[in-house]
Amino acid sequence: MEFETVIGLEIHCELATKSKVFCSCSTEFGAAENDNVCPVCLGLPGALPVLNEKVVEFAVKAGIALNCTIHKESVFDRKNYFYPDLPKAYQISQFHKPICEHGSITINAEDGKEKKIGITRIHIEEDAGKLVHNEGSTLLDNNRCGVPLIEIVSEPDMSGAEEAEDYARKVRAALQFAGVSDCKMQEGSIRFDVNLSVKPKGSTKLGTRTEMKNLNSFRSLVRAIEYEQKRQISVIEKGGEVVQETLRWDDAKSKTIAMRSKENAHDYRYFPDPDLVPVVLTDEYINNIKAQMPQMPDVKYKIYTQQYGLNASDALRLTEDRQISELFENAVKAGADANACANMILVDLYALLKEQGCDISGVKLSYTDIASLVKMTKNGSINNVTAKKVLAKVVQTGLSPEDIVKKEGLTQVNDIGEISNIVREVIKENPQSAADIKAGKTKAASFIVGRVMRLTKGKANPALVNQIIDEIIKSE
Ligand code: ADP
Ligand code: MG
Ligand code: ZN
Repeated sequence: MEFETVIGLEIHCELATKSKVFCSCSTEFGAAENDNVCPVCLGLPGALPVLNEKVVEFAVKAGIALNCTIHKESVFDRKNYFYPDLPKAYQISQFHKPICEHGSITINAEDGKEKKIGITRIHIEEDAGKLVHNEGSTLLDNNRCGVPLIEIVSEPDMSGAEEAEDYARKVRAALQFAGVSDCKMQEGSIRFDVNLSVKPKGSTKLGTRTEMKNLNSFRSLVRAIEYEQKRQISVIEKGGEVVQETLRWDDAKSKTIAMRSKENAHDYRYFPDPDLVPVVLTDEYINNIKAQMPQMPDVKYKIYTQQYGLNASDALRLTEDRQISELFENAVKAGADANACANMILVDLYALLKEQGCDISGVKLSYTDIASLVKMTKNGSINNVTAKKVLAKVVQTGLSPEDIVKKEGLTQVNDIGEISNIVREVIKENPQSAADIKAGKTKAASFIVGRVMRLTKGKANPALVNQIIDEIIKSE
């Protein structure tokens, strides 16, 4: 029997506010354990929560970025459960009346076409603390208690790992562009829960799902999905039944591990939090925020492909990260060629970032550096190989490309006389290669080019070198 996979994602995203959602404690990442706490976020008896207005603004922005209906009235509920990282024994969330509903985002489906993925709801909630497991003991860090989150729940609209990854990337980009979160995966600012089931191909009835919690990289998201769909299919093929349960993905062991049988909404005894009033928004408030929204990745994608003439894959990658897209756009606006800028960022810069294990926020690089490197290459004052070298030095030192080129004497050699002399010298030393070129062996020519480049310390204009070799050999 052939099977189809059905996936729905729940995404938790930490909002980039300075203070927590119901108290004025700092949300700073990396503070000393239990430094950022107060009676409210520790849930001490009698302490009262006060809603942080910025959280509402960010949730509304996220809703607009993800094409949702923004509700003018939403309500906070208590989600009751006990766990050591939850001092109040309930989490303040929004269950019955969330702030945003009925959104969507467009992804590239597995068949190459565009596909709309439904967003069921976005609600505001508070994060829990963190258990730190040591040998033989467990410690509790409450700094994360009360850090504002939004949870974005999708419809079960995705059919495999590729679509789920594209959806997760698109949502992450939308949130980052909207300015509501830094979306740093390595700091847990954005985490994914995957709900997955399988069903016989063509069947309209959904299968029993499992839920894999807290995946925090795209790679583990994809690996977990690929593993879990195989596991469920093999359970069914052996005549068994998939059990609805919550799983944990163990990346090191490459498998899912059962955590607990699935709880249902009624297990949480949701009820409106009597300490908080409903959130009531006016049309004016919502329209004001709409007017402040920056340009979103899907709009940029259209501009990059239609106006700047980029191919789809480059445009997609440049619109995945806000800082990268700004770097690119500003370089183009400074007069550099769009495709050359895209190439320098996506190939050369990304290779450097990978090498250094950091992202764009960790390096000193301005759009003027990209623009001048591209322009210098275009007008022939440096060649491509030199441009790569200079880019690496800019990233390393923060100096401008012009200064580096000047200081290290990297200006391209365009002098026909100078190049001709070197070519003649190389041909004299390698008569066999010259004979091979005459006999039509193109490999021999690249050997000569290589020698010339080495003698000019990589500075000769490669197009000129090729042309001169050709002329000299022909005239001999
Ligand atoms: P809960 O909050 O208890 O996890 P929800 O009904 O809110 O349950 O669903 C959570 C997620 O599971 C949603 O993203 C939804 O699209 C997805 N989902 C629901 N049913 C299925 C199913 N049979 N297969 C795959 N995903 C599903
Ligand atoms: Mg869930
Ligand atoms: Zn506090």
